[in-house]
Amino acid sequence: MILRAVPCFIGIALGLASPDSSAQPDAHANTNAGGLFRLPTGNTSLYERGEETKFFAPTAPDKPWTSGSFGCVRNDGWRLHEGIDILHQQTDRHGEPTDPVMATADGTVVYINTRPSLSNYGNYIVVRHVIEGVEVYSVYAHLSAVREGLRVGQTVKAGETIATMGRTSNAEVILKERAHLHFELNLLNNDDFAMWFKKNSPPGEHNDHGEWNGQNLIGMDPREVLLQEHNPNGNFSLTNFLHRQTELCRVLVRATNFPFLKRYPMLLIRNPVAEKEGVAGYEIALTYNGLPFALMPRAESEIKSTARIQLLSVNEPEEKANPCRKLVIKRGSRWELANEGQRLVELLIYP
Ligand SMILES: [Zn+2]
Repeated sequence: MILRAVPCFIGIALGLASPDSSAQPDAHANTNAGGLFRLPTGNTSLYERGEETKFFAPTAPDKPWTSGSFGCVRNDGWRLHEGIDILHQQTDRHGEPTDPVMATADGTVVYINTRPSLSNYGNYIVVRHVIEGVEVYSVYAHLSAVREGLRVGQTVKAGETIATMGRTSNAEVILKERAHLHFELNLLNNDDFAMWFKKNSPPGEHNDHGEWNGQNLIGMDPREVLLQEHNPNGNFSLTNFLHRQTELCRVLVRATNFPFLKRYPMLLIRNPVAEKEGVAGYEIALTYNGLPFALMPRAESEIKSTARIQLLSVNEPEEKANPCRKLVIKRGSRWELANEGQRLVELLIYP
């Protein structure tokens, strides 16, 4: 059930149920023969039923494998892990991991951090992919070494070795037994992240990574993507996968020209009213971890509030199931965007 935070809004469903679905992506659904994303290490236990403990690195030996998976899996469900931790399989004689790390798909290297003291990701690489027209950014973190000669701007092939697994991080001590690749698949929130961060973060907080800061990358669940894609009967489509995300909440923004719209036009839902009258804002569906997965233009006549950002609705069961990103908060009987939610949406529509 979706609880309305404001009097009922014009209810055109977002997503595949939309009757105005000429912008839907099914035309691309069959273009992934041979696979879009590959496992980024030699560990293939993900595809073997019941072998999760061989694939995921839990946070401690007494924690379940799910603590190495994506989602509200840390701190009793109250902390988000926005990637998956893939267990090592090879070590040198000192017990250090030596697994090669491979590009998950064809792409271009956009960022390499080789100053591990500057990030909880330690040494990490970001690769940009275009899959069915969707820009996806894969992240490979805690690396011991980046492949010699690898540079920003270079193209890489799916399965090409780009680094060696490691245990680097400026925030946590990763024990040898737990050595893993932290792997993410993301959409990019905003090109102007560095400027936004400067204006909106407390003094003393540094961003050393430009737009390739983890806060600017919004994750999808790599396990889900890899498993669904691996299913021979699944006919996987990334765009459909995104459209089928579960909605945590829906916001309305009085902004009409922000980078995410141009970067991800496949996530737009048509609205004939706005097409006829002109666009005054966008209604945006967000997942529990803040992924904007459906955006619908709204006409002035459809918008009831003058607020620049307005929370329209909250999916309460989803909020109960996945509260860790703390995007929304209930005050009395009324839902509001929490600080984290406000910050996420402000970044999305910046400047
Ligand atoms: Zn991790």
